[in-house]
Amino acid sequence: MVVGAGPNGLTAAARLAQEGWRVTVFEAADTIGGGSRTKPLADGAVYDVCSAVHPFGASSPAFEALDLGAHGLRWAHPPIPLAHPFDDGTAALFHRDIDATIAALGVDGARWRSTVGSLAADWTNVRHLAFGPVLRGAVEHPFAMAQFGLRAALPAVLLVRRFATREAKALLIGFAAHSGAPLSSPTTAGVGLALAAAAHDAGMPVAVGGSQAIVDALATVVLQAGGELVCDHGVNSLSELPEADAVLLDLTPRQYAQLADRPLPRWKYGVAATKLDLLLSGPMPWTASAIRSAGTVHLGGPAEEIALSEKATATGSVPDHPFVIVAQPVVADPSRAPKGHHVIWAYRHVPNGCDDEAAPNGIEIQFDRFAPGWRDLVVHRRITTAADYGAYNANYIGGDIAGGAMTPWQTIARPRLAFDQYRTRRPKVWLCSQSTPPGPGVHGMCGWHAAASVLRHAARAQ
Ligand SMILES: Cc1cc2nc3c(=O)[nH]c(=O)nc-3n(C[C@H](O)[C@H](O)[C@H](O)COP(=O)(O)OP(=O)(O)OC[C@H]3O[C@@H](n4cnc5c(N)ncnc54)[C@H](O)[C@@H]3O)c2cc1C
Repeated sequence: MVVGAGPNGLTAAARLAQEGWRVTVFEAADTIGGGSRTKPLADGAVYDVCSAVHPFGASSPAFEALDLGAHGLRWAHPPIPLAHPFDDGTAALFHRDIDATIAALGVDGARWRSTVGSLAADWTNVRHLAFGPVLRGAVEHPFAMAQFGLRAALPAVLLVRRFATREAKALLIGFAAHSGAPLSSPTTAGVGLALAAAAHDAGMPVAVGGSQAIVDALATVVLQAGGELVCDHGVNSLSELPEADAVLLDLTPRQYAQLADRPLPRWKYGVAATKLDLLLSGPMPWTASAIRSAGTVHLGGPAEEIALSEKATATGSVPDHPFVIVAQPVVADPSRAPKGHHVIWAYRHVPNGCDDEAAPNGIEIQFDRFAPGWRDLVVHRRITTAADYGAYNANYIGGDIAGGAMTPWQTIARPRLAFDQYRTRRPKVWLCSQSTPPGPGVHGMCGWHAAASVLRHAARAQ
């Protein structure tokens, strides 16, 4: 039995169904998908409600093992994976090809190779560490741990001091800022390094047709293996569920406590998101023209400015010049919008529970700064506030899109310190959401490891 049809719940269901288990997935919303849904925007264009860009999905061992490509998932790669513009009209460019990135970074090229390239070159081994529980990874992959873990434990602001150029610093801090944690916090370097290494290895693709295609492929695996998906079925108590050998919850720790009628855990929820989706009548008029071919764009200026704005957000402010993550899916996948039109997907972090109506303005201020004239192209705009996200998905408590703050403790002890972090203290109940290792992202690895724990447990019980 699985509660929640997000990428992790569906991955757990797919693995168990393929192992011959009879699996039913209950989903509160009227469609499957959680943070991987695609919906109509306007005039035939579609937009990704939550996740859009998938370096982790494209390098996920779980998606590889489930062979999602054979179940309808296709990745589309933009010519340039990532761009990061500056006020002088230039931009740092991240290429999938490590040598092209190094060549563009000038005096920092060699340093980029030793810091990021070495991880990317050994990603097949390093990913087992990056995509799993830290403690078990340290025991099972000590060499990868020595290579990755020591650097990953650093605050991102400290790691970027290795570099001399604003370009290298900005690229790395931008990746690290996906964590939503203050960049002076230990382990934020790990998020940046893992994303950058995965992006060199697998690129930063979008899913053809939208991120919905990822969960649709997972659902196909579940159904083909005899599983069942039940939407419009929110679960409010574990006692509502039919008797089962295992219950896997694609939920956060607070929801588990509520369903199991247990005391609320000491679990800290993190920053929320506010998002702006646009349909444009043409390409975004970026001042740095190379950005027009980039799938992802990080806005916020130099690394120091991004570190300050993320710190302000973490301490409860809504800065006017936030770090903004932008995706331009049409650059890779023209099927998303009518011919000649572009879809812009952009979000910023805001404090948990933020009800500041001005929050989307910060995104627009950054657009004015790096792509003046964009307002003339707007055909349709859609805002999603932190409160909207809370209403959209019960997992987004206070609008937290990560299932819990990425503090150093909650990165390692996610959701608690144990050799098996997926099993709860209640018999036959497992957590399989992004509140377990390795944490946020559409990679399915939380569900994959939770299903493995169920299978190990069942084998021992026989
Ligand atoms: C704005 C935004 C941008 C993002 N961008 C990216 C990106 O570009 N790339 C990337 O890899 N990741 C991105 N993410 C993160 C990614 O979406 C999540 O990490 C991922 O979806 C987590 O998957 P999950 O299965 O753990 O949980 P979820 O996706 O949250 O799925 C949980 C499911 O459980 C259901 N549910 C909740 N409570 C109940 C209940 N009581 N009964 C039944 N069902 C219930 C929910 O409706 C939901 O469908 C983004 C997220 C957001 C919000």
